Amino acid sequence: MKPAPFQFIAPDTLEEALEALETYGSDAKLLAGGQSLIPAMNFRLTQPAVLIDLNRIASLSYITEDPDGLQIGAMTRQRAVERSARVAERLPLLHEAMPHIAHVQIRNRGTIGGSLAHADPAAELPVIALALDARLHIRSRTGRRTVAAADFFQFMFSTDLGPGEILEEIEFPALPERTGWAFEEFARRKGDYALAGVAAWIRLDDGNVIHSARLVYLNLGVGPVRAVEAETALAGQTPSPDVFRNAGVSAAAEVEPLGNVHATPEYQRHLAAVLTERALARAAARLNGNPA
Ligand code: FAD
Repeated sequence: MKPAPFQFIAPDTLEEALEALETYGSDAKLLAGGQSLIPAMNFRLTQPAVLIDLNRIASLSYITEDPDGLQIGAMTRQRAVERSARVAERLPLLHEAMPHIAHVQIRNRGTIGGSLAHADPAAELPVIALALDARLHIRSRTGRRTVAAADFFQFMFSTDLGPGEILEEIEFPALPERTGWAFEEFARRKGDYALAGVAAWIRLDDGNVIHSARLVYLNLGVGPVRAVEAETALAGQTPSPDVFRNAGVSAAAEVEPLGNVHATPEYQRHLAAVLTERALARAAARLNGNPA
């Protein structure tokens, strides 16, 4: 199908985009990479009267760094994030997750900001944002505000973004020293949305005991979900296969998969347990200098 008719505006600056958003209000939609919005328009699931194209706004596409971490402009292409040496070095968990997003052609157009604003519970980037405690900088005509990833994702396809607001930048803190990390997911075919996935990290104290841990899941709830009880239980433990297996069992009980045509909720819980154990084992192996 083709989309319903719409007016097309392509501003050159963020200020012009914000002005257009204010003028057209809920009749308007922002266009980033179009990899989620255009299919939805073609299916007539959404019929914006006005499309405000962000693609000419060069100032929204960048990757910069400081001692605390990286700042990524919302219009930075997913492929640019994937190929960035800075991301690979400073945010290896993000780097590891990127190739799991769709296919390379989609990542060539799709943007980091578009994926986060779209907030698909099956998407990789919201999970990474929550796992790394990213901070999202949001612009409107009245100023700039910052929201923690934990508060940004509110429900399926629903975020803290309000009318007249544009996601401008995502700030990722680098993981502290003595932290091992891994991303694991299971999809029926390469490039498909995964049936389940997890971003995990564990941080060790000086005695090689787990100081803290993070487990965040995709497609196992209405948004990116943490297994807080499993995380808490990991703290104070010495890394071992048994500890990681127990964490998987605990996480599988905590997540709330909805099931779909490809997987029952029971199967998704099974995946949560297996993927958690696998991710934690790889995170621990990295701490031992073995990244395989
Ligand atoms: P768009 O489609 O342009 O926009 C998406 C939404 O976000 C729209 O509502 C738009 O108004 C809003 N928006 C965009 N930018 C901003 C902004 N800066 N501020 C405020 N609102 C904004 N994704 C995955 O994560 N994993 C997958 O496995 C996966 N598989 C895919 C397979 C196929 C076949 C396709 C077509 C897509 C797939 N995707 C997948 C989606 C892809 O990652 C999209 O790129 C992403 O969801 C949206 O990014 P975009 O830049 O294309 O945004």
